[in-house]
Amino acid sequence: MIATETRKYRLGEFHRFEGGGRQFLYLVPAGAIFEVDEGASAVIDELSGGEAWHEDLMARLGERGFAGRDGEELVGEMLLSHAIMTGETAAAPVEGAPANFPLQSLVMNLTNQCNLSCTYCYEFGEDKVATPEGKPKFMDIETAKASVDFLLKESQDRKSIHITFFGGETLMNFPLLKEVVAYASDRAAADGRFIDFSLTTNATLLTPAIIQFLSDNSIGVTVSMDGPPEMHDKLRVFANGRGSYDIIAPRVKALIPGHRTRPITARVTLTAGNTDVVRTYRHLKDELGFAEIGFAPVTTSPDRLYAINEKGMDGVLEQFHVLADEYLAYALRGELHGFSNVSDTIAELYQGVNKSHPCGAALGLLGVGPSGDIAPCHRFVDSDTHSLGNIATGVDRDKQNDFLTRGHIGAKYDCHSCFARPLCAGGCHHEAFVRYGDTGHPNLHYCDWIRDWTDTCLRIFGTISAQNPEFLEQFAERKGLS
Ligand code: SF4
Ligand code: SF4
Repeated sequence: MIATETRKYRLGEFHRFEGGGRQFLYLVPAGAIFEVDEGASAVIDELSGGEAWHEDLMARLGERGFAGRDGEELVGEMLLSHAIMTGETAAAPVEGAPANFPLQSLVMNLTNQCNLSCTYCYEFGEDKVATPEGKPKFMDIETAKASVDFLLKESQDRKSIHITFFGGETLMNFPLLKEVVAYASDRAAADGRFIDFSLTTNATLLTPAIIQFLSDNSIGVTVSMDGPPEMHDKLRVFANGRGSYDIIAPRVKALIPGHRTRPITARVTLTAGNTDVVRTYRHLKDELGFAEIGFAPVTTSPDRLYAINEKGMDGVLEQFHVLADEYLAYALRGELHGFSNVSDTIAELYQGVNKSHPCGAALGLLGVGPSGDIAPCHRFVDSDTHSLGNIATGVDRDKQNDFLTRGHIGAKYDCHSCFARPLCAGGCHHEAFVRYGDTGHPNLHYCDWIRDWTDTCLRIFGTISAQNPEFLEQFAERKGLS
C-alpha cells in the first residue's frame, strides 16, 4: 500500500455524457453510471490536464471550496468508483466464462425447413453456415424430449428456465411444439421450476387454433416482418418470388388481439433499399398494432446486393435518433414506446450489465437442431463446423471452451479502449463469422455506429433518471432475445 501523500492520481476510464441537465460518467471497466456533482466535476477538471500528486490535488481542490476532509472524502469516493485511479488501483476485471455456467435458455429449431425463401436468410441464403445435408428436416419427439431433459439437467438449480422455438419456419412443426410445451411444463412442474416459452415465426401458417394455443399457454411471439407491403415484399418472398405480405397481414391482425396473455413483437431486418425505419415502425406499431418493434441490419458479407453500406447505416442511425427522441418523450410521460432497440439497451444499463461475451451463446443459451446437434445459438444450428456436441452425448466441453475463449472480450484487443465494450463486447459471434471467418473476431465494421447508439441510449437513460426515475424500475427484469 502506498502512503496517501505519495499517491499520484489520474482519470479512470469513462465516457462522460449529459442527460436532463445533469452530468454523468459511464464507468467503462465496471459498466456502471455515476452522476457527476460539483465536487466530482472539480476533481475531473483538475485531472483533465494530466496526473497530479495527492498534496497538489488537495491544494487545488481547496481553492475550489473542497478543503481538508471534504476533499479527502471526495477523492476517496471517486477512487472507489474507479472514476479516478492511482498506480495501485486495479481496474475492475471483467469476469471470464465460469467453467460450469448453468444453462438458462434452449433454442429448439423444430425444423430446418421454411415455406418462404427470403433472399437474405442466414440459414438458406448465400452466407449460410448450416450444412443440413443428410440430417433430419424435422425434429422428432424423442429428440425434443431429450432436449427438454438436457435443459432441466444443464440448468442445474435455476428456478426459472426458458425454451424458444425456432426454425426454419417454426410453425411447420406445430404438432411437435404442442407436445414439447406439454412435456416440458409437466417436467418443470414436477421439479418445482418455472418454464417460459417463446417462438419466432414468419406468421404465414398462423390459424385461429394456433393463436388460441399460444394465448392459452402464454407463449411469447416474435413475428419476422419488414414493414408495409412495398418494403416487406422486396425480400420476404415465397419460392416463386411472390411477396408474403398479403398472407401475413390478416394473420397478424388476428394474432395481436387474439393472443391475450403476451404482447406481440415484430423483428425487422434492414437491408439496402429497405432502411426507412420510421415508416416501418409507424406501419407495424400504429397500423398493425405490434406492442414492440426491434430492428437489426442484415447479417451478411459486405459485397451482397442487400448489404447496407456505410451511407445507408448513417441513414439508419438518423432514423433511430428520430424514434429515440420519441421514446424519451414517451418515457418522461411515463409511457412505454414500442422501439425495443432503446428498451433493450436501457435495460442493460439499468442492470449494470458488463459483458464478458456479447450474448448468451454457448454460455446461458444453446441451440439444438432437428438432428439433436447442439450449437452455440439458433444461428449456428445444423452447422458441422460449429457443432458443440449432440443431445444424445452432451456438450463437447473442449469445443464450448474454445468458442467462449475466442469470444471473450479479453481476447478482442481492438475493443479494449472502447467505451461501448460493456454492452457490445465485440458483437454477434455469427455476424463475426460471416464477416471475418472467426466467431471471436470483433465486428469492427460497425464500431462508430455502436458507439453513437450507446451514447444516445446513455443520454436517454440519464435524462429519464434525472426527470422520471420510477420509469426505469420496469427494466429490472427485462431480457433481450439473445
Ligand atoms: S466491436 Fe467495436 S463497438 Fe464493439 S466493443 Fe469492440 S471496438 Fe467497441
Ligand atoms: S447475438 Fe448472434 S451469436 Fe449471439 S445469440 Fe444472437 S445470433 Fe447468436
